[in-house]
Amino acid sequence: MAKRRRYTARPARKRRKVAKAAPYENTTVATKAEGKQRVKIPSSLTVKQFADLIEVSAIEVIKQLMRNGIMANINQVIDHDTAVTVASDLGYEVLEEKGRGAKAKKYQRFQEDDTSVQKPRSPIVTIMGHVDHGKTSLLDAIRETNVTATEVGEITQHIGAYQVDIHGQRITFLDTPGHEAFTAMRAHGAQVTDIAILVVAADDGVMPQTLEAIAHARAAGVPIVVAINKVDKPDANLQRVKQQLADHELLIEEWGGDVVSIAVSAKKREGISDLLENLLIVAELEELKANPERHAVGVVIEAKLDKTKGPLATVLIQTGTLKVGDPFTVGDTWGKVKAMFNDKGKHLRKAEPASPVEILGMESVPQAGDTLTVTANEKEARTQAQKRQEEKRLALTTTRPLSLSNFFSQIRDGVVKELSIILKTDVQGSIEPIKTSLERLNTDEVKVNILHSDSGSITESDVLLALASKGIILGFNTRPEPGARQLADSEGVDIRQYAVIYNLVDDVEKAMKGILEPTYIEVVEGHAEVRVIFSARGSKVAGVYVTDGTITRGALARIMRQGETIFESSVSSLKRFKDDVKEVASGFECGVGIEGYSDLEVGDIVELYRTERA
Ligand code: GDP
Repeated sequence: MAKRRRYTARPARKRRKVAKAAPYENTTVATKAEGKQRVKIPSSLTVKQFADLIEVSAIEVIKQLMRNGIMANINQVIDHDTAVTVASDLGYEVLEEKGRGAKAKKYQRFQEDDTSVQKPRSPIVTIMGHVDHGKTSLLDAIRETNVTATEVGEITQHIGAYQVDIHGQRITFLDTPGHEAFTAMRAHGAQVTDIAILVVAADDGVMPQTLEAIAHARAAGVPIVVAINKVDKPDANLQRVKQQLADHELLIEEWGGDVVSIAVSAKKREGISDLLENLLIVAELEELKANPERHAVGVVIEAKLDKTKGPLATVLIQTGTLKVGDPFTVGDTWGKVKAMFNDKGKHLRKAEPASPVEILGMESVPQAGDTLTVTANEKEARTQAQKRQEEKRLALTTTRPLSLSNFFSQIRDGVVKELSIILKTDVQGSIEPIKTSLERLNTDEVKVNILHSDSGSITESDVLLALASKGIILGFNTRPEPGARQLADSEGVDIRQYAVIYNLVDDVEKAMKGILEPTYIEVVEGHAEVRVIFSARGSKVAGVYVTDGTITRGALARIMRQGETIFESSVSSLKRFKDDVKEVASGFECGVGIEGYSDLEVGDIVELYRTERA
C-alpha cells in the first residue's frame, strides 16, 4: 500500500466542521446534575437555540465555547457533539445516547482486541441511491478517472470491489451498487462500509429508494456524502435536491448542516476528483485504523464457483495482512490461500487492510458477508469450520428474529430496549398520525424507534432493513411484494398488516406491555404421496411414500389434491409393514390413517406440519 499522506489541500475550517458532524440524527438526553431538567440535543442547532434549551444565557454558552476553542456568535450553528460537550461543561450530566447515533454502535466494524499496533487504513465506500440515478455510471467514472494509476498490461477485473489512488492515498469502492448488497451484508452481521455515497439525480430529485438508502446508512451509523449527479442535464435542479434532502433531515453544509454534498456528472466525468477528495476528508475524520501485523480478518463480498479454478471469493481485508499460504476459516468452510489477485488481475503475495482481493483455495463457496479468519494451521481451520457448521445447525433451530409477539420477552430479558419499526402505508398522509400515535407509547423503559417510513408496498429492501436492524414491519393498507414476503418468511421477519390505525397502535402497545396474544407459525415437517389405497377392518388406509422430511404419528396433516387443500386433521395411525411406528423418514413407504378422513385417493399429497409460537 502506498505510504499514507495526510491530505491537506482543503481549508482547515471545513475539515473541522465535518469532524464534529454526526451524519445521522443524533440526540442525547442530558440532565442537569442537581436538577431534574432533561433536554434533547438535536443533531445541530444555533447557539441561541441551545442556550434556550439548556436555560442558560447565550453569553454563557459563547464563553464556554470559547473555552473549548470555538469562536461562535449567537446565530451560529453548532453541532451535536459540541453541544453535548458544552452541556456537560455547564453541569448537565449526559445520561444516555439514544436514536440512530447510539444504534450505530451496535454495528461496529471489526474490533481489534490489541490496539497497540494501529496504522491508518483506507476508507471503504459504498454507493447507494435510487435506480437510474447513476450509481453504476459513477462507479465506472471513478474507476476510469483513476485509470492513470493502472499499470500497463493490467486489465480491470470485476471482483466486486476496486481501489483508486488519489494524492497517494487509496479509497476502496464496493462495486456492488445498491443498498440491498449493503444491507444483506449487514444482515449477516458484517459491516464493511465506512462511508456511503448517496447518489441523487439532479433532474429527478429525492425518490423512494433515496429515502431507503438514507434509512439504511443511518441504521448502520455510516456517514453520508451526497453526490448530486447528472448536473449536465438541462433540467438539473440542485437547489430542489438540497431542499428535498433537508425535508428529510439530511442537512448539507451550505444549509447549516454537516453533510458534504458534491455536484457531479458521471457521464461527463465532472466533479469526480472533488468527490474523491471530500471522501478522503470525511475518511480522515473517521480515523480508520487497522493492525497490518496480525493474522488477517476479512469479509467476503462476493463468492462463486469457477468451473476451472474452483471456489473463488472476493474478500475485503479488515485487519491484518493476508498472505499466500495462509490457512483460514471462512463462514463454515475453510481453505489455504493458493493464489490472490487484485482488481486489476495482478497476482499478489500479500494483501493489507482495506484491500479487496480475490482468493483461490477454499473447500467450498462461502457466502457474501461471511468472515474470513486466518488460523495458526490447517487443522485448526478445518476444526473451526466444522464447529461453525454445527453452530449454524443449532442456531437455525433455536434463534428467532424479533417479532411483535416475542418483543416483550426480549425486553424482559434485557435483549432489546426499543422496538424498531419500518412503517409502510398506502398514502403519505397516514404516516404522521401513525408515527405520532406510536411515539406516544414511549415509556422510560421501552421506546418505539421508527427506522424508516414511506408510502408504497413492502419491498425486499424493507425486509432486509428489518432483518439487519432486528426490527419489524408494519403495513397500513399496503401489502408485501411477493419477493418481500418470501424473504420475510425465509428469514423470519415479522410483517404485520393493518387496515385500521387503532388496531396497529393497539398491537404495538400490547407488545410493549407484554400482553399481545402470540401468533403461531407453521413449520412443515415433510410430505408424503399416496401411492395405493387398501382397506383394513372396514376403514381405508393409504399406502404412502415419504418424499421429504418425516412423518410422525400425531403430526398435523393437510391433504392436498391437485394443489388444493381438501382436508386438515392429524395422523391417527402409522404402520411399517404390520408394526405400529412413531416416525417414518423420507425415502420409505408406510401406511397412514388420517383422523376423521377416509376418502384418500392415489396421487393425494399429505403435508405434515406443526405449529410454533412466533
Ligand atoms: P443506476 O441504476 O443508479 O446504476 O444508474 P445507471 O448508472 O445505470 O444510470 C442510469 C442512466 O442515467 C443511464 O442511462 C446513464 O447513462 C444515465 N446517467 C448516469 N449518470 C449521468 C450523468 O451524469 N448525466 C447524464 N446526462 N446521464 C447520466
